Amino acid sequence: MSVFKPEKSLWIYHLNTGSCNGCDIEILAALTPKYDAERFGVKLVGSPRHADIIVATGPVTAVAKESVLRVIDQVPEPKAIVVVGVCGITGGVFRGGYSIAGPLDTLVPVDVYVFGCPPKPEGIMVGILKAAEVLELKRKGVYQKDVVKITETGGVL
Ligand code: SF4
Repeated sequence: MSVFKPEKSLWIYHLNTGSCNGCDIEILAALTPKYDAERFGVKLVGSPRHADIIVATGPVTAVAKESVLRVIDQVPEPKAIVVVGVCGITGGVFRGGYSIAGPLDTLVPVDVYVFGCPPKPEGIMVGILKAAEVLELKRKGVYQKDVVKITETGGVL
């Protein structure tokens, strides 16, 4: 697979919308020296105001919904949103539950889905790099909405 080389560092904000933490642990694994996301310029930031890409997990609980939307709104445009894990994509095992207000793409536009429960760090890395491609198209003003789907091991569907 050819690897997209972003022109700029990718500052990501990790947003847990109510996940079981399984996907979140895999995101952290992708940032550790073993997978070394930093070699692509991927940097975790503590404020959405500093981020280019949101990496979201979980089905969006009703309690979290307002905070989730506020955080996403704080990320400057253009931005890209990656949803990690089937709970974030379809609601997963939480779908239809009384406490669920998502999935996220019913509330805001999502650019990349990474399937799996949870996906592997390799899949998350590919998802972030695909989001970087989307971001570059948005910056150039030539983006045409087309959700990118990534398998749990990093294959492009
Ligand atoms: S997709 Fe699986 S690992 Fe990820 S939040 Fe849902 S239940 Fe947890």
